[in-house]
Amino acid sequence: MRLESTTIRWEQDDSGIVTLVLDDPNQSANTMNQAFKDSIAAIAERVEAEKDSIRGIIYTSAKKTFFAGGDLKDMMKVGPAEAQQAFDTGTAIKSSLRRIETLGKPVVAAINGPALGGGYEIALASHHRVALDAPGSKIGLPEVTLGLLPAGGGVTRTVRLMGIADALLKVLLQGTQYSPRRALENGLVHEVAATREEMLEKARAFIDANPASQQPWDKPGYKIPGGTPSNPKFAANLPAFPANLKKQLNGAPYPAPRNILAAAVEGSQVDFETALTIEARYFTELVTGQTAKNMIQAFFFDLQAVNSGANRPKGIEPRQVRKVAVLGAGMMGAGIAYSCARAGIEVVLRDVSLEAAVKGKGYSEKLCAEAVGKGRTTQEKADALLARITPTAEAAALAGCDAVIEAVFEDPALKHKVFQEIETIVERDALLCSNTSTLPITALAEGVERQSDFIGLHFFSPVDKMPLVEIIKGKRTGEEALARAFDLVRQINKTPIVVNDSRGFFTSRVIGHFINEGVAMVGEGIEPASVEQAAAQAGYPAKVLSLMDELTLTLPRKIRNESKRAIEESGGAWTPHPAEAVIDRMVDEFGRIGRSGGAGFYEYGEDGKRGRLWPGLREHFTKPGHTIPFEDMQERMLFSEALDTVRLLEEGVLTSVADANIGSIFGIGFPGWTGGVLQYINGYADGAGLPAFVARARQLAERYGERFTPPALLVEKADNGERFTDAR
Ligand code: NAD
Repeated sequence: MRLESTTIRWEQDDSGIVTLVLDDPNQSANTMNQAFKDSIAAIAERVEAEKDSIRGIIYTSAKKTFFAGGDLKDMMKVGPAEAQQAFDTGTAIKSSLRRIETLGKPVVAAINGPALGGGYEIALASHHRVALDAPGSKIGLPEVTLGLLPAGGGVTRTVRLMGIADALLKVLLQGTQYSPRRALENGLVHEVAATREEMLEKARAFIDANPASQQPWDKPGYKIPGGTPSNPKFAANLPAFPANLKKQLNGAPYPAPRNILAAAVEGSQVDFETALTIEARYFTELVTGQTAKNMIQAFFFDLQAVNSGANRPKGIEPRQVRKVAVLGAGMMGAGIAYSCARAGIEVVLRDVSLEAAVKGKGYSEKLCAEAVGKGRTTQEKADALLARITPTAEAAALAGCDAVIEAVFEDPALKHKVFQEIETIVERDALLCSNTSTLPITALAEGVERQSDFIGLHFFSPVDKMPLVEIIKGKRTGEEALARAFDLVRQINKTPIVVNDSRGFFTSRVIGHFINEGVAMVGEGIEPASVEQAAAQAGYPAKVLSLMDELTLTLPRKIRNESKRAIEESGGAWTPHPAEAVIDRMVDEFGRIGRSGGAGFYEYGEDGKRGRLWPGLREHFTKPGHTIPFEDMQERMLFSEALDTVRLLEEGVLTSVADANIGSIFGIGFPGWTGGVLQYINGYADGAGLPAFVARARQLAERYGERFTPPALLVEKADNGERFTDAR
C-alpha cells in the first residue's frame, strides 16, 4: 500500500529545496498521531525516491506552534496491553525521521513557534536549527515534568549533540523550556531569526553552504562530547550522577529522572540505532505506569482546565484591570504590587506611611535589579515596571482604581477600616479583594457597601514565585465579581482555583492536616528525624517540622482557638488533634515558637539559618525504639490531606476536582507525582484506586485514630466503581 501524507505538505521550489510544512488539517496543533506516522513515512519514501532532484529539506509549520509533541490523551490510555503498539508507532516515526536525516542532503528545522517535546525532537533530527524569536515561543524537552522521557530520539540525540552531562542537566532532567534566545545560548539551536522570512532565508543559506551535510554523529570518527563511560576518566565520575539525582529527589518516588539517566548513560555506549531502542524501552516502562498518568492528568489536563476557565462563570464579558490599589505594603502587598506591575497594570501601593509604602516598592526594585542582572529582562522594561508602582499613604491617591487588593494585618476590624476609607474613592464598580489567609470572606464583606463586588484573593508567599491564587467566593459575592477576579488572576499570569467560603478555605485548611500529622508523630515518640525523612520521601517539597517552624507554632494555636470558638458557638463539640498538646508544650513549656522566634523544632543560628533538629525533642518526646512502619508515616500525611479534601467536596467548599489537584500541588506542596490530592486517591496503589484507598484509610483509622475514617462520599464512590473526575 502506498502511504499518503495528510499532515505534512510538500512544497518544492525551482532550486530543489523541499519545504515540509507540518499542517495537520484536523487539529489546531500538529501531534505525533497515527496520521503523522503515516505522513512522515510517506515523506521518507518520497525523498528517497526523488533524491536526485532534491537539494535540501526544510521542516516548518503552518500552525502557530511548530509541533506539539505526543498525543497525551492517547498516553493516558496506554496500559501494558497497548504498550507494544505504542512502542511500534514510536519506532516507525523515528525510523522515518532517521531516513530523512541520513539521506545525504542538508535538513534544516525552521522553528516558527513553540517546539517542545516531539517538536524539538523533529528539530534534533535536522542538521541545522533556526528558531524564530516569536514572543512566548518555547523550546525544550519537558517530558520529565509529565513523568515521561523524550522517546522520539530526544535522549539519544541530545546526548550526542552536547554530551551526557549537558544533555542531562540542561535539557532532560529539569525539562527546562527555553526562549529562542536562551535556546541559542545553551546550544539547543544554531541561529535565531527576527522574522519568518529571515528564518527561511537562513535555512536556505545553510542548505546552499552545506550541500552534503550530515549530523555530527553520522560523520566518521565522531565521539560523544565530554566522553562516555567507556573512558576511564569519565567512568570515575559516573557514580556522581545517580548520587546527585538521589540527593535532588530526596527519595521521592519519581521514576522518570532515573529512567532518563539510565537511557542516557546506557545509550551513550552503543550505536545510534540501539540507543533509540534503549530509550524507547525506558519510555514504555514510564508510559504504562501510574505516575506518568497522574502527572499528565494534573500538569496537562487539570492545569489546562483550570487556566482556561472551566470554573469561570459563563456568559460574562472578560475584563482587564487598568489600575489596582494594593492596601498594605508588607510582605504580601509588596509581592502583589510587583506581580501586577509586571503584567502591565498601574499600581497604587498604600501603607500607613509613605515611608512604609516606599519600602514595599523597594521589593520590586530588588527583584527588577536581580532580573536585569541575570539577563531575564532589560533595564528599560524594569524601569517601566517600576514607574507603574506609585507608593502612597494618601487614600485620595486611589482615585481611578478599578480593583483593590487588601493585604494589611490579619485583623478583621482593621480590614473593615481600610475598605471603608477607600470604597467611595476608587471607581464605583471597583472589584474589592482581600488577601486574607484564614478569615471567612462573608463576614469580611460586611465591612463594605457593595458586598456583591467583594471576594477573597488568596495569594501565596513569595508572591512573585508562587503560581497559584485561591479565589474565595463569599455568600454574597456576585458572579460578575467572580468572573472579574478570575480574569485579574489570569491577567497577572497566575493560576486561579475557585472555592466557596469556609474557615481556612481549601489550601490553609488542608495543609494544616499535613502539619498536624507530622507533629502528632513526634508526640507519639517517633524519632523526629524519621518524621522529616518520611515527608521528604513522600515527595513533599518541605519537610513537615521545618514547615511548621516557618509558619510559626503560635499560628495553628490561634486558628485552633478561633475554630473552636466558632464550632462551640454553633453548638458543636471540638475534637482535639493529638498535635495540639505537642505544640502547646513547645510554646508554653520550652518557649520555642519557630524560626521567627529563633527556636522551634529546629535550632537557628544568629543569622536565622536553620541548624539541626532541637535535641530536646528526643529528650522530651521521643520514646527510644518506638517506631511505626515507614509507609504508615508517609501515608498518614498524604491521607490526612486527601481525606479532608474529600470532606471539602462533601461540604461544597470545593466544587472541582481539577481545582483540588492543582491547588494542592501549586499552593501547598502536595507531591507532584500523585497528580494532586484527589488524583492520588484515583491512582492509589498503582491504579487500584478508591476501593484500595478506602481499605487503607480504615486500617489507618484503626491504628491511629478516627480522623482517618473515610468520609461517606468516598465510600459511596468506591462502592459505585467511580473516580474523582469533573463532568466536562
Ligand atoms: P505584613 O505584616 O508583612 O504586612 C502588613 C502591612 O499592612 C504592613 O506593612 C502594615 O504597615 C500595613 N498596614 C497596617 N495597617 C494599614 C492601614 N491601615 N493601611 C495600609 N496599610 C496598613 O503582613 P503580610 O504577611 O504581608 O500579610 C498581609 C495579609 O496577607 C494578611 O491578611 C495575611 O493573613 C495574608 N497572607 C499572608 C501570607 C503569608 O505567607 N505571609 C500568605 C497569604 C495571605
